[in-house]
Amino acid sequence: MSAVVTDVSRPCPRCGATLWSDPRFTSWCGECDWNVDPLAPEETSGRTAGHALTAGARRGDDSSPGPRHDEGSAHTLSRLSLITAYAVAMAVHGVTVVLAASAVWCVVRGWGGLGAPLGVVLMFLAWTVRPRLGRPPRDGQVIVRDGAPVLYGLVDEVAEVAGTRGVDVIVVDTDFNAGVQTCGVRGRRVLTLGLPLWEVLGPQERIALLGHELGHYGNGDTRRGILLGTALRSLHHWRYFLAPTPDPAPVEMLVNLLYLGPRVLVRGVLLLLDRLTANAGRHAEYEADVFASRAGSTEAAVRLMDRILLDEPVSTIVRREAQRLERELRRPGRKKETGQDASRLWEILADEVRAVPEHEYERRRRVSAARKHRADDSHPPTHLRRRRLLSGDPLTAAVVADDAREERVSRELADARRLLAAEIIRDGYAD
Ligand SMILES: [Zn+2]
Ligand SMILES: [Zn+2]
Repeated sequence: MSAVVTDVSRPCPRCGATLWSDPRFTSWCGECDWNVDPLAPEETSGRTAGHALTAGARRGDDSSPGPRHDEGSAHTLSRLSLITAYAVAMAVHGVTVVLAASAVWCVVRGWGGLGAPLGVVLMFLAWTVRPRLGRPPRDGQVIVRDGAPVLYGLVDEVAEVAGTRGVDVIVVDTDFNAGVQTCGVRGRRVLTLGLPLWEVLGPQERIALLGHELGHYGNGDTRRGILLGTALRSLHHWRYFLAPTPDPAPVEMLVNLLYLGPRVLVRGVLLLLDRLTANAGRHAEYEADVFASRAGSTEAAVRLMDRILLDEPVSTIVRREAQRLERELRRPGRKKETGQDASRLWEILADEVRAVPEHEYERRRRVSAARKHRADDSHPPTHLRRRRLLSGDPLTAAVVADDAREERVSRELADARRLLAAEIIRDGYAD
C-alpha cells in the first residue's frame, strides 16, 4: 500500500494553494475546488467553473427537506401528497376490480355467445394487473436464522432500538447497497445486505446501517409501501401490456394507435405517483438515519454516510481485484482451493478502503453537494443526510460492537462471502 502523498511541488493552477493529491486518487484544490469533479456530467460541468460550485451547493440545500426550518409546512405538504398518492393507488386497484367485475358480467349476460370470449379477455387482463406483493430477491445467498444466530441476534437487538421486530430472512448479495422489504401475504421481512458495502464498514458503522434499515420499519415506512408498491407493480404491468409493437403490420399499427391514449395515461399516473411520494421518501430516509444514530451512534452514522460516497471506487476495486484473482487462480499448478482464496477479494477491498485518505472523502462530499440531484431521486443527497446528522445533538450507541461478536458474525457469513466472491471472480463484476 502506497503512502499518502502531498505533492507540494504542484500548486493549484487556479489559486496557487497546495493541491491535495495521492497517486491513487484525483488531485484537487481544497481552497478553490479546482478539479473537484473531473467527471462531472454535462449539465453541471458548466456550473462547477469558478466559484459557482458553492452557490450550486447552497441552491441544493434550499430545495431539499434537509434544513429543519419550515418543517411544519413541509410536513403537511408531504402528508397531503401521500394521501393523494394513496387515492391514486386505490384508483389503480379500482380499475382492476372493475375489469374483473365486467368480465363476470360479460360471461353471465352471454350476448349470444359474444360475452364469454370477451369475459375471458377481460379476466385475463384483470389477472395480469392484479395487486402483486413483493417477492424476495432471487440473487444472493440466503442466510437462515439457524445458521447465523449471532447476526440475527444483532439485528434483533437493533430492531428493539427502532421499536420494531427483527427480520425473517437475511439475504447477502453483491450490490453496494442494503435494504429491507416485506414479502408475500404473511408479510415476511427480508433484509438484504450487499457485501461490497458491508465489508468496507467498521463494526459500529454496520450497526448504524442495520439501524437505518430497521428504522424503515420503525417509522411505518414499509407498511404504507404495500399499497403504493402493489399499485406501482400493477402500473408497470399495464405499461408492459400497452407497449407499442415494434415494426408493426397494418393491424398492429391500428392497435398501437388505439393504445396511445391509455399508454400516455399510465405513464402520467406513474410520473404522478413518483412525484407525490418523492418527498415522503426523502423524509423517511432522514428519519431512518435517526435510528442509525440511535443504534450505532451519530459518529458511526456520519462515517456510514462517508462510506456510501465510495460506491464508484468500491466497484472499481472489486472489478479490478476480481480480474487479478481470476488470472492468479487460473495459473497452472495451483490446487483447487478456489473458494478459500476467493474470500481474499473482501479483505483486499476492506484494506484499500481503509487507506482512502480523508481528503478524498471531502472531495466526494463536495461533489455530492455540487451535482444537483434529479427531482425524481427518492434518496436525499448523501452530503445533506450527513449534515443533518451532525446538526443535532450527537447520540451515543445503544448497541455496542465487540470483537467476539464481530468475529462470530464474520464466521457465520464465511460461506456466503466465499461463494459470492467466487461468483464475482468467475463472472466479472457489473454494478
Ligand atoms: Zn485552488
Ligand atoms: Zn433507507
